[in-house]
Amino acid sequence: MDLPVDEWKSYILQKWSLLPKSIQVTISTAETLSDLFLHSSSLLQPEDEMFLKRLSRGYLVGKDPNAPLFYREEGNKKFQKKDYMGATVLYSKGVSHSRPNSEDISLCYANRSAALFHLGQYETCLKDIVRAQTHGYPEGLQPKLLLRKAECLVTLGRPQEASQTISDLESNFAAKPTLAASQFQILQRTLCRLKVKVQEKGNLTETSPAALTKAFEDMDLREENEQISNTSSSVSLCTDPLKGRYLVATKDILPGELLVKEDAFVSVLNPGEMPPWHHGLESKWDTRATNADLYCHRCLKHTLAPVPCDGCSYAKYCSQECLQQAWDLYHSIECSLGGLLLTLGVFCHIALRSTLLARFEEAGKVINKLCGEITNRDICLPESKNLAQILSYDVGGESKKKGKTVETPIPGCDINGKYENNYNAVFSLLPHTGNHSPVHKFLCALSVSALCRQLEAASLQAFTTGLKSSKLKAAVAPMLYPELNIWGVAMLRHMLQLQCNAQAITTIQQTGSEENLITDSRQVRLATGLFPVVSLLNHSCSPNTSVSFISTVATVRASQQIRKGQEILHCYGPHESRMGVAERCQKLRSQYFFDCNCPPCEREKQRPSQGPRWEAFCCHRCGALLQGGDVLSCGSTSCTESVSRDHLVSQLQDLQQQVGMARKLLRNGELERAIQLLLGCQHDAESFLLAEHSVVGEIEDDLAQAYAALGDWEKSATHLQKSLRVVEVRHGPSSVEMGHELFKLAQIFFNGFAIPEALNTIQQAEKVLLVHYGPWNDEIQELQKMKSCLLDLPPIPVGPNE
Ligand SMILES: [Zn+2]
Ligand SMILES: [Zn+2]
Ligand SMILES: [Zn+2]
Ligand SMILES: [Zn+2]
Repeated sequence: MDLPVDEWKSYILQKWSLLPKSIQVTISTAETLSDLFLHSSSLLQPEDEMFLKRLSRGYLVGKDPNAPLFYREEGNKKFQKKDYMGATVLYSKGVSHSRPNSEDISLCYANRSAALFHLGQYETCLKDIVRAQTHGYPEGLQPKLLLRKAECLVTLGRPQEASQTISDLESNFAAKPTLAASQFQILQRTLCRLKVKVQEKGNLTETSPAALTKAFEDMDLREENEQISNTSSSVSLCTDPLKGRYLVATKDILPGELLVKEDAFVSVLNPGEMPPWHHGLESKWDTRATNADLYCHRCLKHTLAPVPCDGCSYAKYCSQECLQQAWDLYHSIECSLGGLLLTLGVFCHIALRSTLLARFEEAGKVINKLCGEITNRDICLPESKNLAQILSYDVGGESKKKGKTVETPIPGCDINGKYENNYNAVFSLLPHTGNHSPVHKFLCALSVSALCRQLEAASLQAFTTGLKSSKLKAAVAPMLYPELNIWGVAMLRHMLQLQCNAQAITTIQQTGSEENLITDSRQVRLATGLFPVVSLLNHSCSPNTSVSFISTVATVRASQQIRKGQEILHCYGPHESRMGVAERCQKLRSQYFFDCNCPPCEREKQRPSQGPRWEAFCCHRCGALLQGGDVLSCGSTSCTESVSRDHLVSQLQDLQQQVGMARKLLRNGELERAIQLLLGCQHDAESFLLAEHSVVGEIEDDLAQAYAALGDWEKSATHLQKSLRVVEVRHGPSSVEMGHELFKLAQIFFNGFAIPEALNTIQQAEKVLLVHYGPWNDEIQELQKMKSCLLDLPPIPVGPNE
């Protein structure tokens, strides 16, 4: 997903292997990114571009005139089955394939407004009604739409507007005596009902759904740092030849303290599982919903009612504002390249978008000049010496380990030493050119150069046809070709930087249907972005901060107490509670090019035979921990049991298979059978797995879910508490994983009306989640609602009558 699709990768791999040795050497030893780019790009042949074009055409990103009707009919089927969520998604797909101001688009919007109405999304429903009307909703169907509008307004407690809509409706009737009598009667009856409701609800105040967004915007760093933008004054930026740039605490920091709040310089939504189109499938149009259908392509907010780009079916936004912003900033150029960008992957897309965004900054000019300098290395203008240094520093095969001492100011800072979230800082992130394999560099260079040629063709076309707006021309103009090679070099640099500097933007997705009273949550990757300030944090497998996202904004909070002078650390992915030391070190070395020597790594390297407890086996005789390599022996001195690892591993595989079957039963609602199977699994697990083994925890968690679905809250809570213990051992008592598990337990106690236990668990969950997410997290809001609901319960009467 980050890198180009496999077909293009293997095509380039083969092309590389067929190159004469001498050319391979020239590319492998290219001293600057500019040389690398120019050499590679001269090898891109028309047939290579044709191949890439064929791959790109596999994605359905244009507007297909036959799709709206198909999706609308599929949506109607779901609507009839009362699957309003499913219907909404399908109507959205219909919308995205419709041309603006067409009957298709207005009908899709109108139908979507009906589904949203049933989902209780009245504000959004109103927006869709307006959209249907502005895109030319047929006159004859207007009364239905106006009625829905009035109903929404009544429910939202906006009586004046509702009355206005009702009188519009009445005049609409008066003007249309042709309406069928039966239809007329239905409408009139609904009107009367509505008028009563308006009177009843007249006093209701309007609710503000925007309150939360506002609250988040108000959330501020206690004191802004003068040296680094978007950062609290409790940290400062340092540099050192071994570590590169890093952040340290300038005072004692408490758990939960907000340290960084930074909006992405650039971000690109991950398309999710969006397979390129293959022939032979039963329908041409995909009815499944992916992230690309459910999240705004600019701000990443979850949206049930996206508005599509006028020019393509792929880009969708939460609002007209986001659509316009995206268009002005980058989409005017990206729009015609949808399929190509999906083929070349998210990194290439970010590389393009970064350079497009650079056009709006002074830095754009600096880079322009600078890249010019790398092309002719003899000229070196004194005012941009600093950036030139970074470049010569990068290309010589630097690494964080053996880098030369960098002169002040610190790379990425401006002349006053201030580090900001801007293109200058993005540009200064290390591309680690010397560490990437030659074939990887060749792949990146050819992908970028193919993209440049497409851009050239697209901008030429925009000029010659003159069909597009003058605004678009203005946007394309700076991309014209004399400079294209320079932008190509910059894009190549970004593509190489991303391997170490890309930040996954995640969100917590609630799983579990509405009938399922317990919601489970899992972290999903939504987008990839560049955050120059967050990028200053070094890695630890046991970090002291926690990163979370709202929209495109990253927040970094202290997850534990940090003493003055300590380094602020973040985990790049390989966390000590997720993988063993060997796997972590291998991953860090191959992706980030360094050897980790954080405390957990040092500790675990010293006793390599002892794996983590969540993967440990126990003796089936005495229950003590089994230790060893290929043959494990019992840790208890009074026991002589020993067993081969292969045997235990195959036993574990059998168990996991059983658990998988139980989950299938659970999903199909065969609760009793699922419970029987799970209880059997639990019994088997006890005989050879340590009580803290992750599979033991999973079994308990599944049992808790099954009992919850049966409404047996007491049993559900007992099992979840066992799962909670496993999570605690593995992730620690104040980990975010623990917070999610406590949240589930709170729901179970709440549903079972175990009031003291519920209140106690709510408090614990709140405390843990607050440290990681701050107060605006959905789960915390939910916990607070549960709490006030429990506290508002009338006291249980106690008296002599009982
Ligand atoms: Zn948006
Ligand atoms: Zn578009
Ligand atoms: Zn480590
Ligand atoms: Zn034993």
